[in-house]
Amino acid sequence: MKFHLDTAEIYVPDLMSEEQALTRTTHLCFAAHQDDIEIMAAQPILECFQQQDKWFTGVVVTDGRGSPRDSLYKDYTDEEMRLVRFKEQRKAAMIGEFAAQIMLDIPSKVIKGSSRSEPVNDMLAILRASQPKFVYTHNLADKHDTHVAVALRVIEALRELDEAERPKQVIGCEVWRALDWMVDSDKVMMDLSAHENLQFALLGIFDPQIAGGKRYDLASMGRRRANATYFGSHSVDETTALNYGMDMTRLMNDLDLNPAEFVGHFVQRFAMDVQDRVNRNW
Ligand SMILES: [Zn+2]
Repeated sequence: MKFHLDTAEIYVPDLMSEEQALTRTTHLCFAAHQDDIEIMAAQPILECFQQQDKWFTGVVVTDGRGSPRDSLYKDYTDEEMRLVRFKEQRKAAMIGEFAAQIMLDIPSKVIKGSSRSEPVNDMLAILRASQPKFVYTHNLADKHDTHVAVALRVIEALRELDEAERPKQVIGCEVWRALDWMVDSDKVMMDLSAHENLQFALLGIFDPQIAGGKRYDLASMGRRRANATYFGSHSVDETTALNYGMDMTRLMNDLDLNPAEFVGHFVQRFAMDVQDRVNRNW
């Protein structure tokens, strides 16, 4: 496959051809940075793990050059950091038995702000080559600009697909802002009760961030546990770990639907839920 940057790469852990690796994909995730996939899309990774008919492909959109660095990595140049972050993402793809891991290597500033066609065209080429059933990306209520920008570029690419080419579902996932605030009936439930060991392994690979003091591994596992425990106050826990998703499929299918209005609808339902509860107990 050709992407608009020559430095983009496709890594196939089991050494299948690129074409075969992408064709078998059923679950496809577009993430802004290295480690976002393992934080937000652990459920589809585990659903595909060791399956013959389900395959997960990850796409990291940005280049990792601007990553914060400390400890062992504090004197690394931007280019050295980029290489470290590419290497750790390949390790995650190997442990998670991904169909393929694509790194588009695009600078954040090209993704953010108003749309540029090159990232959208790369995403569209990946969607057409892999024809996934399920697409995962950042949710539109995330508080990191690059995450929201990636999600918007993914929506643009999805809208270019013909009806027959579209995935069944598009899910926005949790990284920089959990989705616990959404009303329960709006939540996509992603059960992560199984393979806690693999979840720790996938999160633990990303050493530069963790060594720099950001314990994304412990925080992500804690969020999953908290989501499961705090889901319902009256019932016994049916799961021991959960991630939540925002169903964004309508944004693909309704070309006139404005993304800001779409996410605002979820926020309004949250506000009404809070106000109703206070009012009925006042
Ligand atoms: Zn990120």
